[in-house]
Amino acid sequence: MADHYDVLGVSREATPEEIKKAYRRLARELHPDVNPSPDAQEKFKQVTHAYDVLSDPGQRRDYDRGPQQGFGGGGAGGFGGFGDIFETFFGGQGGGSRGPKSRAERGQDALLRVEVDLSEVVFGTHRDLEVDTAVICETCEGSCCQPGTQPITCDICHGQGSIQRTVRSLLGNVVTSAPCGTCRGYGTIIPNPCPTCQGQGRVRARRTIPVDIPAGVETGLRLQMPGQGEVGPAGGPQGDVYLEMKVKHHDVFSRNEDDLLCTLEVQMWDAVLGTTTTIQALDGDIEIEIKPGTQSAEVLTVKGRGITHLRGNGRGDLRVGIQVVTPTKLDHKQKELMKQLASAHKYPAPSLGQFQQGLFAKLRDRFLNV
Ligand code: ZN
Repeated sequence: MADHYDVLGVSREATPEEIKKAYRRLARELHPDVNPSPDAQEKFKQVTHAYDVLSDPGQRRDYDRGPQQGFGGGGAGGFGGFGDIFETFFGGQGGGSRGPKSRAERGQDALLRVEVDLSEVVFGTHRDLEVDTAVICETCEGSCCQPGTQPITCDICHGQGSIQRTVRSLLGNVVTSAPCGTCRGYGTIIPNPCPTCQGQGRVRARRTIPVDIPAGVETGLRLQMPGQGEVGPAGGPQGDVYLEMKVKHHDVFSRNEDDLLCTLEVQMWDAVLGTTTTIQALDGDIEIEIKPGTQSAEVLTVKGRGITHLRGNGRGDLRVGIQVVTPTKLDHKQKELMKQLASAHKYPAPSLGQFQQGLFAKLRDRFLNV
């Protein structure tokens, strides 16, 4: 890297006025508008950069001072002097140089909400999720630089990323360190940022993430997908995606852990005489046998037709609560038959018992306690 004073053709003792004059003369000569040669362009950039540094009193002072090595830089261990002690006090790494920070950072995590139907929970399902995210810039492949160009070492901190100042005190020299304001601590400057990503190394994009949602998920469950999140600044590693599950309400089937629950209305005579019927479960038809003498609120269990367990093997059960329906609209002939039936059988009189909160409460108790 050429010396800034040489680039401007001035002495190290040049006054601000002389520096300005030298810059104006060179700028007129090298400006891309008047001098289109690639050499002149490169020179113009150098001149402009040199002027930026030398026209700022603070930056010029830092530049004049040159690279600071700090104290105790040998890193041999042990306290070699006050410098070592102070570096330890001020968060140093025990004698080693801290070095510039990397532009590349890990991308942020993202939380996506995914709604699934209960039927999808039985066996698991697949989704292709569209997400607005950041992907690596294909022009610069995350380098942030226009193709064919490279970052240049920062002149102010000389690639260290930080500016160290030595202050004399009663105890000796105190070294303090602050991030370099010119390169923002990176130690390098990008003179030609990538035009596609404006030097970010990543661009916003819509991406499809294929997701296999396992069986047995519940509302509120979060699934982690490592490395599926956005690309970080300067092409840094991707963050994670978390999927927060929401299982939609189903009009017929509800859920108790991995069991599926429903009710089945059975006409009185079917409950008395018994019958078979086919119900449409979430995973296909199931034949249900109603035994003669089936009572209201009885629960029939169909083993292994519930939800596939999220962890481990096997499935829960399907539990069918029977609701016996009393006929209300009987024609004359049916009424006569009922009367005959009643007189032919010695039924006990209605008997007193404990209050029940209706059939559904009864069913719920049986569902959960059987
Ligand atoms: Zn780019």
